Amino acid sequence: MEKLQNFIDGQYCAPLKGNYIDNYEPASGKVYSLIPNSDAEDVQLAVDAAEKAFPIWSKMSIEERSSILVKLSEGIEARMDEFVQAESRDNGKPLSLAAHVDIPRAVSNFHFFATAILHYASESHNMEGVGVNYTLRKPLGIVGCISPWNLPLYLFSWKIAPALAAGNCVITKPSEVTPYTAYLLGKVAQEAGMPDGVLNILHGEGGAVGDAIVKHSKIKAISFTGGTKTGEYIARTAAPMFKKLSLELGGKNPNIIFADCDFKEMMSTTLRSSFANQGQICLCGSRIFVERSIYDKFKAEFVDKVAKTVVAHPNNPDAKLGAVVSQSHMEKVLSYVELAKEEGGTVLTGGERVILDAPYENGYYLRPTVIEGLDYNCRTNQEEIFGPVVTITPFDTEEEVLMMANSTQYGLSATLWTSDLKRAHRMANEIDAGIVWINAWLVRDLRTPFGGVKASGVGREGGWEALRFFTEPKNVFVKY
Ligand code: NAD
Repeated sequence: MEKLQNFIDGQYCAPLKGNYIDNYEPASGKVYSLIPNSDAEDVQLAVDAAEKAFPIWSKMSIEERSSILVKLSEGIEARMDEFVQAESRDNGKPLSLAAHVDIPRAVSNFHFFATAILHYASESHNMEGVGVNYTLRKPLGIVGCISPWNLPLYLFSWKIAPALAAGNCVITKPSEVTPYTAYLLGKVAQEAGMPDGVLNILHGEGGAVGDAIVKHSKIKAISFTGGTKTGEYIARTAAPMFKKLSLELGGKNPNIIFADCDFKEMMSTTLRSSFANQGQICLCGSRIFVERSIYDKFKAEFVDKVAKTVVAHPNNPDAKLGAVVSQSHMEKVLSYVELAKEEGGTVLTGGERVILDAPYENGYYLRPTVIEGLDYNCRTNQEEIFGPVVTITPFDTEEEVLMMANSTQYGLSATLWTSDLKRAHRMANEIDAGIVWINAWLVRDLRTPFGGVKASGVGREGGWEALRFFTEPKNVFVKY
């Protein structure tokens, strides 16, 4: 069985204690590789390497740093097929999704920040007749980046690209559920000429190696994407150490559909925003609110289309949904379907496992699920399920739907469907969310601020926001 390795000081190496954990293939439910179960000793090795590398990396010219990161981006592109296969196998997502979204986006993330850093300028504030202030923006030193399993390399690179571009050395941990593409990245970093110790990739469980990263006194900032509960723990641990923190957490996003929308476009996008990546995208719209005058029409067409959606092995080109990421996650999603029934909901379609033919009969496949008849305030409508399950709820007025949309503890994103321009702007302004799409979903411009409000997180990623997070401003005043 293949054993993955950590990538520390520019070399692949086994975890110091020699412990490994199983890595499952969601499509078959079988173990297919072993992951280092690293701990604080491995983190210390990485910190030692990063400390040595920091003066080299941070003092390198921006052009040189940029060129290494461009090579990293090109290196992933050159191995596109290998990365696509690995991502789909590790996560269970359709091959076509990994090929069209995940890996191209990882390529763009590195390319975007490699070139952004060339244009990153700091401020100066003139005081007429008195003097001038200028702001230096210096890298923080060693930073920690921790990422989740749903968009493995996509989110991993979204953090480490700006951290590296800004001149930091990085100690990073992908999810232990989907480690493979991060493991492959070490080779690409070597080939791109990244100096040893600049990028260190550690594998293992959150409570062990993740916790050791968060607690290490020499790691100056933590950029974390994952669940709200983990984010709370990280904030509690890191805040008293005065670390900079960026927390991208859970969501329970509303998808609000008015009768005056472009019905056809709304329908095809809503199918994607509900079930893309098996509903395991933090931006999926899991609470669908539909204006009452079109509720029955929406319900009939939506349920019909969802029922016909192909759930299949990720390599099947017809697969719209592959497998969810793990057995425990599949069980969690199914438990929410049971909860929804207890809460008075009616399952209109789905709500069950899909058993494929051998040898995939133990894979984690779920039928996309639509539920109606639930109160906006019940647990099914308030808690994050993070799977292929949506609820549909009718509404009568703008005020009512706004109240329901804003009723959860979360505030990541929202989608609005209407052709009334004034209403679109009015509602976008009132919705508790860091990101609002009007007549669209998941259109991403990497320059825009990305992040959530309330329990969906603290801080913003993307564009200058990310480069600001990964640098420390220092103001210098010079008297005239
Ligand atoms: P998770 O919180 O369980 O794990 C995320 C990462 O944190 C993993 O690498 C894990 O090993 C690590 N971790 C766990 N415990 C830790 C600890 N005590 N200290 C340090 N690290 C620890 O989340 P998940 O199940 O991997 O991902 C799903 C969640 O991520 C969902 O809630 C989803 O909404 C959220 N998410 C948010 C965004 C966003 O941009 N806001 C994007 C994607 C996913």
